[in-house]
Amino acid sequence: MELKNVNTWWTQSPEDNAGTLQTDLHKGLSGEEAEKRLQKFGPNQLPEQKRVSPLTLLINQFSSFIVWTLIAAAFIAGFLGEWVDATAIGVIVVLNGLLGFFQEFRADKSLAALRKMATLSSKVIRNGELQTIPSEKIVPGDLVLIEAGDRIPADGRITQSIELSTQEAALTGESMPIHKIADALEKPDLSVGDKKNMGFLGTVAVSGKGYMIVTETGLQTELGKIASLLQGGREEQTPLQIRLEELGHRLVWICLGVVALVFALGFFRGQPLVENLLISISLAVAAIPEGLPAIVTIALSIGVRKMAKRNALVRRLPSVETLGCTSVICTDKTGTLTQNEMMVRSIWVNGSFVDVMGVGYNPEGDFKVKDAKINFQDNPELIMALKIGTLCNSAELHQNLEKGWSIAGDPTEGALLTVAGKAQLFKQDLEQKNPILGEIPFDSERKRMSMARKTPEGAMLFIKGATDIILAHAESILLNGKVEPLTDERKKSILDANASLASQALRVLAVGYRPLPQEVKIDQSMEDKLILVGLIAMMDPPRPEVKKSIETCRNAGITTVMITGDHKETAVAVAKELNLMKEGALAVTGAELEQMDDQHLKDNVRNIAIYARTSAAHKLRIVRAWKSLGEVVAMTGDGVNDAPAIKEADIGVAMGITGTDVTKEASDMVILDDNFASIVNAVEEGRGIYDNIIKFVNYLMSSNIAELLVIFMGMLLGFRDPLGNPFVSLSAIQLLWLNLVTDGFPAIALGLDPVDPTAMNRPPRKSSDSIFPLRFAVQLFLTGFVIAAGTLAACHFGLSQSAELAQTMAFTTLVVLEIVRVQMVRSQYHMSIFSNPYIILALASSLLLHLLVVYTPFLQTIFGTVPLNLTEWGVILTVAIVVWVISTVINFLFKKPQLQKS
Ligand code: ATP
Repeated sequence: MELKNVNTWWTQSPEDNAGTLQTDLHKGLSGEEAEKRLQKFGPNQLPEQKRVSPLTLLINQFSSFIVWTLIAAAFIAGFLGEWVDATAIGVIVVLNGLLGFFQEFRADKSLAALRKMATLSSKVIRNGELQTIPSEKIVPGDLVLIEAGDRIPADGRITQSIELSTQEAALTGESMPIHKIADALEKPDLSVGDKKNMGFLGTVAVSGKGYMIVTETGLQTELGKIASLLQGGREEQTPLQIRLEELGHRLVWICLGVVALVFALGFFRGQPLVENLLISISLAVAAIPEGLPAIVTIALSIGVRKMAKRNALVRRLPSVETLGCTSVICTDKTGTLTQNEMMVRSIWVNGSFVDVMGVGYNPEGDFKVKDAKINFQDNPELIMALKIGTLCNSAELHQNLEKGWSIAGDPTEGALLTVAGKAQLFKQDLEQKNPILGEIPFDSERKRMSMARKTPEGAMLFIKGATDIILAHAESILLNGKVEPLTDERKKSILDANASLASQALRVLAVGYRPLPQEVKIDQSMEDKLILVGLIAMMDPPRPEVKKSIETCRNAGITTVMITGDHKETAVAVAKELNLMKEGALAVTGAELEQMDDQHLKDNVRNIAIYARTSAAHKLRIVRAWKSLGEVVAMTGDGVNDAPAIKEADIGVAMGITGTDVTKEASDMVILDDNFASIVNAVEEGRGIYDNIIKFVNYLMSSNIAELLVIFMGMLLGFRDPLGNPFVSLSAIQLLWLNLVTDGFPAIALGLDPVDPTAMNRPPRKSSDSIFPLRFAVQLFLTGFVIAAGTLAACHFGLSQSAELAQTMAFTTLVVLEIVRVQMVRSQYHMSIFSNPYIILALASSLLLHLLVVYTPFLQTIFGTVPLNLTEWGVILTVAIVVWVISTVINFLFKKPQLQKS
């Protein structure tokens, strides 16, 4: 197949375009043809931003000042004939560099993988059926359905536009929406902004609906041509990463200060110069937490992957941290708190309620009045209500061998097709007899939808929407087969019926119609003078797991607020089932909210649990009111108009299934299953990840402080070996080894710790809290001091025999104490030693390697160690127990403010 390359698509009619692109204007391509074209044209994607190459990453590991100093020191040692030291330092520098490389490489890779997860999907018609496919599989000739909120997935020719308008600022800089048309344009030379019958990759549909045949994909698109301009832009750093980096910079200076002091002390004590130099530099390497930033990135990205497994896709890394601070979750009702599997339960027509039987989307079931089955044929108002529900409908009902009955499209509309099917009314037949003339799509701001059709009785407008809206535009009602005026009394009976249905947690739609003059072009002004036919009420059961999640939030000090477009009575009834309203909490409507000024809202926002009949603008005010009280707000949304509120929220949450592309792009996190429980799970993971980061900051810093103090205090105490020479508690190589193995392995494993089981029993962390408060610093220093004191005690014991034994004792005690320390840090977070196999692996391997260093003759010569006997091990273990007891007391004294239930 050869496709003609036309670059003036806009001058052709849609039919000609379809012909040129060898596709069908209504059925689209066949699946087989699409596959062939995918092979030929390649995936519809733009080149990825260039990443740092592994080689650069590796070279970067060896380009720090400290590493160069170490390498220089090794050379000096070699020059002076200290070959063993020089080689060992060289090997350790290489190993250290490799470990750093491995950490950063992994961090980088997992970030790339995360970006991949966030790919977009599009709606295409293939083989005449609506399908959702990943946008990168779109090929020229594909027929794409575009609805408000969708990102246009490729360049194409608009073949049908129902009030479709798009925002093209990304491409043209023009911020006003462009109204799209299907007709051909005359001029062959037009700028992008003037091609009103074309859709472009990277622009978004802001209202209406339309179809487009794809003309170009990937790099051939207008955006593709300027794609190189879009590259660049760095990965965002999280607040924690930034603060840790700042802390790291400050620590470098403190460490260097102490190291200089150590060097001076050594000098005045008369230590040999080379040894003194090596010790000082190794100490600097050991004490400076250079691996911290990479480990933080690893912990964050591991966390993000864990969240993805629990259906929460984090789009921006900093959100992981903010998630843990969330104190208010504002959530939609339909689909998030409820299942969004609608089923019509009751229909109010002709002044009485008709109950509907049956299950799921299967169009089988009886109609009953007061428990007695009725014949629907005898109820013309019921038939009319069902017909309107079907003829003003964009969904489709399918029967499928494996899945049974299912719907494509909005579940509310699917439910209407199902209930009509129960009266033998099917969309396909009805549509054939009543062809469509025009449509005004559903929009949650307007809360209604209409379709004009040519019926045997002439042109008609069929409308469905929220009861109050339809009522406001109605002037008569269908009663006993006649159109009667809508008196106040009749209005009241409709409102009573609506309230009665809504208070049973049912979602209510009113249906109506009006005759139209023939061949008129449909617009909003025609949604007037309506004849109301009845109310259709559907059940949308709450998701079973949500009640527990709301309870979890309450224990975790998180307030849940429901914001819905639905009626107040329905919202309150659902909230009651879910136990979402506390005693005395209020439910307000959008109209009531409009009566409140911002101050009034701020004063009352803590008492309002439900906002009903709201529009998108209200969401923005609610987010702002909560934020002005210092709360960290998560806000869910799905429609285009929700994007501003989602952006404003601390955590903007887009719905994965019902969410539009615009909302997803504005969001910090996408919930793949639209489920409220997944948001709560993500908050829990967020808390867990933050805990893990704090854990290894805690572990790493106390270990580093201990190493510094072991050398420094040993010198201050004037330790000398049995021959009377000045003695240093650890050798340079031992220090470097500790830094590499004992510090490095467990730190990574800590990032893989599971979430503290009690993480959701404590109030949210304040985002303004310092990560390194004074209390924490003092605790770390004291712990480091106790570890150093214990180590020096063991060292002193060995000193009575030989310098080598003393150093081996100090070395081994530090290794053992660091193992103890890991578990002490973890136990503050209720982690048993067996809850993380990586920790066991890390600790076991660091112990095993240490035993090799102490007991194999070859390594003994390199590390300057001697084998330890049982008595010496006894001393070390006694020291470990004493240090453990004292550190436990310190931990207890410095415990965080007690977990409290709110
Ligand atoms: P939430 O905001 O919690 O998701 P919601 O789904 O009820 O709640 P919208 O989808 O904005 O909010 O719907 C608002 C109202 O519009 C509904 O209460 C209903 O009366 C009406 N409505 C919903 N879907 C349709 C539809 N497809 N056609 C016509 N009217 C609809």
